[in-house]
Amino acid sequence: MAPRKLAAGNWKMNGTLASLAEIDQLLADHPRPGCDVLICPPATLVHALAGRVEGKIAVGGQDCHAKTSGAHTGDIAAAQLRDAGASHVILGHSERRTDHGETDADVAAKSVAAYEAGLVAVICVGETEAQRDAGETLDVISTQLAGSIPEGATAANTVIAYEPVWAIGTGRTPTSEQIAEVHALIRDRLAARFADGADFALLYGGSVKPGNAAEIFAIPHVNGALVGGASLRAADFGPIISALS
Ligand code: PEP
Repeated sequence: MAPRKLAAGNWKMNGTLASLAEIDQLLADHPRPGCDVLICPPATLVHALAGRVEGKIAVGGQDCHAKTSGAHTGDIAAAQLRDAGASHVILGHSERRTDHGETDADVAAKSVAAYEAGLVAVICVGETEAQRDAGETLDVISTQLAGSIPEGATAANTVIAYEPVWAIGTGRTPTSEQIAEVHALIRDRLAARFADGADFALLYGGSVKPGNAAEIFAIPHVNGALVGGASLRAADFGPIISALS
């Protein structure tokens, strides 16, 4: 099984019910996309979006708790996301790692919770600019992969997103060679650890736009993108879907 192509949008802390009109437009413009499409809106919109798209595209959360229920004010369990209509959840995004101090072990525990709830975990890894400048990128990614991906991961329940922290929301992107180097490393590590490691979808994320998407999707072992800012509007996300299709 070859990795499936996936265009994933991360709306972060943006959007209200009115914003779902952008998805209506996206579906009108791309009724039969040639790749899987996933939108991860704020948790407040998961249920409404899932009802609106009727399975035509996938809907995901942006985080979940490692526990199934309990006294965790403000948190959301994986099964609650599933109950609201989600099929995926982003885990270990660099903004969660920075803003909420999430560790690789936290991400692995959350991933297990996601699997138990029947969700696909989109596990994010990526180096900071200081780590890249210090020549530590491949070591950092290797450590994050080893610590963040739990046993039990398969190509069916896990997607890996390489997101250099310095490229997120900055308009800066790595060179094609830099992306290729990291994606090859991720593929090697997955193949060494999992029987179906060759089949995991690997996404690149960090300032993907309509203007650079085709070049990024031509890089070996890039099976799609995790897109932040450019996923908010159909006029931007649509051309990215087209470039991947
Ligand atoms: C992201 O939030 O995962 C991301 C890649 O953001 P942006 O596309 O805005 O850089």
